[in-house]
Amino acid sequence: MIDPWTRRRLIITGSASLLLAAGCGRQPQSSRAPTSAPLHPRPGGIWYEVVEGDTLSAIARRSGSSVQAIVDGNNLTNNVLIPQTRLWIPGAATVGVDPLAHLTAPEDDFIPPTPMKEDVAESEPDLPALSGSGYVLVPRSRWTKVAPRSNSRPIGRVTRITIHHTAEHGAVATLPDVEVIRRIENYHRNGRKWCAIGYHYLIGKDGRVYEGRPANLQGAHVLSENENNIGISMMGDFDKKMPSVRQLSALKSFLEDTRDRFKVGKNRVYGHRDLNRSVCPGDALHGWLRKTYRA
Ligand SMILES: [Zn+2]
Repeated sequence: MIDPWTRRRLIITGSASLLLAAGCGRQPQSSRAPTSAPLHPRPGGIWYEVVEGDTLSAIARRSGSSVQAIVDGNNLTNNVLIPQTRLWIPGAATVGVDPLAHLTAPEDDFIPPTPMKEDVAESEPDLPALSGSGYVLVPRSRWTKVAPRSNSRPIGRVTRITIHHTAEHGAVATLPDVEVIRRIENYHRNGRKWCAIGYHYLIGKDGRVYEGRPANLQGAHVLSENENNIGISMMGDFDKKMPSVRQLSALKSFLEDTRDRFKVGKNRVYGHRDLNRSVCPGDALHGWLRKTYRA
């Protein structure tokens, strides 16, 4: 059965293309209606007063600005928005109603635009070499010395696999994969206080498969649907375009090996949007998944 969400065609333009890990939000949306609060106007934007439930990507979408512009304009180093404080929204004249509010879960994932201390402290990883057209697995210990915290539960018997994309914004997308992974890990562990990065695996643009959260621990990648569910995230934004041949080949090989390892049937491979309100893993990649696994 195909979830109705898979049939939705979301029209995403402008700032919405900057969604961070689009639709991978995991918190219930606030029912409190946001209000526009322009305070002391100055050229080139407006002041906006943060209300409970606001996220950077939602404010960007509602104002026609961008997450990056808001981050830069306010020197933000994380996505914690404190109600009743003011944010400068560059290029905006108003902050309207969220046109996607009824379609998506809040996009509260955030990849900090500048490295945090812990990221900098990590040395350059010595990554295993790639060979052939498949993939090479990079154990967690090769990209971080930090072990997962103990506030996690076992995944139990794996019965399903869910595919995501990271959909990082432009300034981050050009960084090496391992740097992006460290930032996501840092945010998930230190910002969200999770035991580690939410995904079990991330597939880099070069075909390397990075171990994220150990597969014996329950992940944090689909709101309320994490039980027995392995999360694999493709690094990049695959709404309008497909992954490169190399990256897609790594996904195919790794997905087949993972299905085999856990004895997961073809019909138990999902896109994030199949299980929850989300645009993840993007129209293009989701189309491929449906064709390959859910037909
Ligand atoms: Zn997702």
